[in-house]
Parts: sequence; C-alpha cells; structure tokens
Amino acid sequence: MYNAPTRIVLMLTAGGLLGVLAGPLESAEPPPKQVPDRPAQDVPVARPTATLFKNVKVFDGKSDRLTESTSVLVVGNKIDKIGGDVAAPEKATVIDGGGRTLMPGLIDAHWHAMLVRPTPAEALTWDVGYANLAAGAEATDTLLRGFTTVRDVGGPVFGLKRAIDDGVVVGPRIYPSGAVITVTSGHGDFRQSFEVPRTVGQPRSRMEQLGASMVADSPDEVRVRVREQLMLGATQIKLTAGGGVASPHSPLDVTTFTEAELRAAVEAAENWGTYVTVHAYTPDSIKRSIAAGVKCIEHGHLMDEATARLIADRGVWLSIQPLPEELAEAFPPGSQQRAKAAEVFAGTDVAYRLARKYKLKTAWGTDIIFNPRLARRQGEVLVNLERWYTPAEALVMATRTNAELLAMCGKRNSYPGKLGVVEEGALADLLLVDGDPLKNLNLIADPARNFVVIMKDGKIYKNLIR
Ligand SMILES: [Zn+2]
Repeated sequence: MYNAPTRIVLMLTAGGLLGVLAGPLESAEPPPKQVPDRPAQDVPVARPTATLFKNVKVFDGKSDRLTESTSVLVVGNKIDKIGGDVAAPEKATVIDGGGRTLMPGLIDAHWHAMLVRPTPAEALTWDVGYANLAAGAEATDTLLRGFTTVRDVGGPVFGLKRAIDDGVVVGPRIYPSGAVITVTSGHGDFRQSFEVPRTVGQPRSRMEQLGASMVADSPDEVRVRVREQLMLGATQIKLTAGGGVASPHSPLDVTTFTEAELRAAVEAAENWGTYVTVHAYTPDSIKRSIAAGVKCIEHGHLMDEATARLIADRGVWLSIQPLPEELAEAFPPGSQQRAKAAEVFAGTDVAYRLARKYKLKTAWGTDIIFNPRLARRQGEVLVNLERWYTPAEALVMATRTNAELLAMCGKRNSYPGKLGVVEEGALADLLLVDGDPLKNLNLIADPARNFVVIMKDGKIYKNLIR
C-alpha cells in the first residue's frame, strides 16, 4: 500500500483538513443517500416464522432418557415453548412427529471443513475458488448428516463460514480457528525441503498463502500469527504442540513449541477473551501445553496415567476422537504417515479408558480429513463411542458437552445463544429421529434414512414428513 507521506497527501487532497482527522476512508465516502419517507403502512411487519413439533419424545442433550410425548414450539431461531398444551400460532408449520425423537443437532468438535475433500497434495494445489466450492458442497452434506455445528480446528475456513452465515451456501454453524499455527518442521508445516531456510519477510509458502497453516518460531512470531487469526475472526486458536500423522517432516514423538511460545499464544488469545487448543498426542507435549495455560488438548491418544491425572487436576478439556482406521487411507501403503497413524490408533483404547477413569471433560469429534468417502460416515464415528460409553453418554457428549466447549470462546461467539440442548430459549438446531437413539445409537449412522427433519437456526433444511 502507500507509504506514510503519500498517505497524508492523499488525505489532504481527498478530504481537506477534516479528512485528516476523520481518516481517508471516511472522507472519500459519498454522503449517505437520503431514503425518501414512506408511509408507515408500507413497511411490512416482520412476523417470525414458527414451527410446532407435536407428538415427539425429546432427548434434551442432558438426560439419559426421553420425555413423554410432548410438543416443542420454535419461533424465529429459538425454542420458544415445550409442553403438552402448546398450541400452534397462526401460519406455523406443524410437524406431527408420530412419537419420534426430537433431539439437538449434532456437534463435531474436531472438523476441518476445507480439508475433507482434497487429498493432501490437492489441498496445496487446487484452485482456491474450486476448493471453496468443494468445501461448500461438503458443508451442505455435513448439515444433512445432522451436524448443525462444527468446531473447525484448522484451515482457511473464514470465507465458507461467512457464506453459510449469510445464507449463500447451506451448511453448519462454524467455530473457526483459521490457520493452524506450527513451528518449522512441526505438524502443519507442509513445505518442501527446497523451501528451507525461511527468513522473516520472505514471500510466504503456499500453505501460508492459503491460510491453512502458519509457521512461527519465537514468542513474538507466535503473537503475530495468533493475532492475525483473531483479526480474521477465529473463535479459538489452534497450535500444534507435538508431532502429527499427516505432516511430512514431523515425527510423532517430538514436542514442538517451547513453553514461552505456547504462553505467548495463550496470552494473546486470553487478551482477546478466548482460548488456545493444541494438537498433542504425547505426555510431554500435553504437559508442556498445560504448563503454558492451554485450555484444551486435541487428541491425547498417547497419554499416560500421570498425564490424565494432570488434565483432570487442571480442569483442561480433552477433545478426543475414536479415529476410524480408514483415515490412514489418505496416505500411500508403506508410507511413514501410515505407520504413524497405526501408532496413534493403537493408543485410542487406553486414552478413552483414562478419560473415563479420571472423569475428564471430554469432547467428541471425528477429525475426518482428506477423505470424502469417510466423511459420509461421520455419524458412524459417534457410534464407535459405544466401545466405552452408553448411547446416552455418547449423545450427551456430541450435543451439550461439545456445546460447553464451544462456549469457551466467550464473546467471540458469533452465534449467541445456547446450543446442544432442547430447552426453552435455546437456539433451534433440531433433529427429528425415526426411532429412539438412546436405545439404538446406530440410528445416527444412517442420517439419510433416520433423520426425517433437520432444522438449523429455526429453518428447516430437510423434512420427510409432509
Ligand atoms: Zn485435526
């Protein structure tokens, strides 16, 4: 852009002295157009839309049993009333649930909306317009699988989120982290060896141009990168504290950021009213992150007993996934990535047992990445929790508990209101399920057949009951 002296000249010529005081943009703007006065009767009265679900049994996101048959009235984007005697307002859409289950929309706490459809190579090479359109189509599919909200833990997702929120594209609510912040050679550094060394001020690498991940190698650099993501609209910040499966130069056992670097990120995020979550499998990377004030651990698959106890003592969140083995399909057989994936999968059972034993605040997610075929089975990954949890525990985790984690972003939340529950005043993200998922969790695995109504923000996106 302009250097400082040029800018001052521009201000003076465009807006005179007042322009200097008000700033160049304001002074260059034409005065607001006068809207002609209209008679009051021409202004349409905005009546909020209303939907009455009658004859439904409610899973409220909290309880381990369904309610008796009742009615749930949605007005605008919120649940207005619940009760047997709720009447339909004029012009309300009435849905007779026929005794089916009404439950909160599902929440995936570990999703990468921009990285589901491409392969790792395509994520770096696809035309950006095409990448966004593909992610938009996947977002529509995500909503139609019953996922009304996702917490996006890495990827250039701000445009997609805006398009969904503005109604340009159909998709879930997105809590974006923006670019993953990593160190040189850390998880998320997808550069090639010929791109090393890096110097500050050098043209950015492809992954950084895209906003998929950012390299930062000192507390000061971390602060810049964190604040940039917050400026772009991140609701929480994601760092990679240890090695990862998909990255080419990042062994699984390594610990990456120093405690001072992690602390710089935590400080910047907390000043902004939100929190840092870290990718971390190993005890060392988890312990260092907690020492630095990190509030949530993604994965934790290789943690040990002492680490689980520490997570419990500090009240830190564990956002863990019953990772399906098919995730490894994104990598060639015999590759390093395949071997790393196997090592992580082997830790899943122990990690979940520790999470149960120490009653960790446990969020559920899928981390389905680089695998559109597997994405179609997103709900099945929730069913996988049955190895360690009852159907009710799994469903509470994917609704109310995940919503509690989302709410950690405080005032950075772009969807004020309660998610993950069916209660009066909560946001109306609802699924009408053909059957009782508390008895048969498998219903979640076939959303096309079993989710007969899907509502997000009070709007119906699917209705098989006509
Ligand atoms: Zn991930």
